[in-house]
Amino acid sequence: MADLRLAGVSRRYGAFRALDDLNLDVADGEFLSLLGPSGCGKSTTLGLIAGLDHPTGGRIEIGGRVVADAAAGRFVPAERRNLGLVLQSYALWPHMTVAQNIALPLVIRKIPKEEQRRKAEEYLDLVEMSAYGNRYPHELSGGQQQRVALARTLVYEPVVLLLDEPLSNVDAKLRERARTWIKELQRRLKVTTIFVTHDQSEALTMSDRVAVISGGRLMQVGTPLEVYRSPATAFVADFVGSANFVNGHLNGNGEVSGSGGIRFAVDTHVPGNTDVVVAVRPEDIRPLGSGESADNEAEVEIVERDFLGARCVYHARLGDNRIRFESGILSLEGRQRIGFARKSAIVFAEEK
Ligand code: ATP
Repeated sequence: MADLRLAGVSRRYGAFRALDDLNLDVADGEFLSLLGPSGCGKSTTLGLIAGLDHPTGGRIEIGGRVVADAAAGRFVPAERRNLGLVLQSYALWPHMTVAQNIALPLVIRKIPKEEQRRKAEEYLDLVEMSAYGNRYPHELSGGQQQRVALARTLVYEPVVLLLDEPLSNVDAKLRERARTWIKELQRRLKVTTIFVTHDQSEALTMSDRVAVISGGRLMQVGTPLEVYRSPATAFVADFVGSANFVNGHLNGNGEVSGSGGIRFAVDTHVPGNTDVVVAVRPEDIRPLGSGESADNEAEVEIVERDFLGARCVYHARLGDNRIRFESGILSLEGRQRIGFARKSAIVFAEEK
């Protein structure tokens, strides 16, 4: 097991900055997700940690050992970092049985035969695939192949586990189960894990902390609750969860005059007389029954609703703005009074 440190890590391709001055500390045993849109630099980061690629700037330490230092010209190759890497495609050997696939890293490391067999069995059992040892990969479902790929990586007890979108080839229902299963396994083994995903719900459900990356830069790192409830930027608010956004001007009394003529009250540390962007989560806006009130109230016209089973997402017109709100009441239509608390508005000073 090991902790991990990235200090000022950059990766340039010519003038293009795929990764720009990334600073990140991951604690021993922690499960950290790298979350961001396609092309933001997640896989680049993972490749640099794995030793598949050289940083053009900065330093990487694993368990206190410097494995890459651009300035000092130090670089420890992948095979000497003892890390476990699981990619989107599981890359199991088709001509080998499941048990042989799992034992392969031990064969390569010249571990004695008897120990190979014992460990392969132990890790088959760990991923609940004991009954499948004699099958070939093509005789397994996608989810089962993924378990075998994980077992094959864990069998040599890597100090850090690197997972690059390992669930993207698993169907939706199975993916939910696989999330819980991977998380439970990680907790049991206490192996430091870096999990790359562009799926915010995957990151929120599985991680101890989430690092949100955009355009090669770290936007925020925090617990799932922190990045969801206290996003550092409008980008994070938008990418992690969904939000209604309004541009406006914050006066000295905590009131925002928004585009389309709407006015509302907020709680914020952003100083007054500032142009702002305000985000309000759909679940923080609620329909008001007669006699109910809220800090901020408005009347909207419902134009569409998405039925999600236990609740609905309503799309509504508020003046010139379109907003979304959620409710467990499934039958709202037409004109509706809505409200939200001033503390639920997330206010960002507009960047000049
Ligand atoms: P995805 O979710 O689509 O896999 P990602 O966040 O993992 O995306 P990266 O693969 O890390 O993104 O790529 C980051 C950026 O670096 C992209 O804009 C990509 O086009 C660029 N890039 C990656 N490899 C190279 C390369 N060898 N030469 C030039 N540009 C590259």
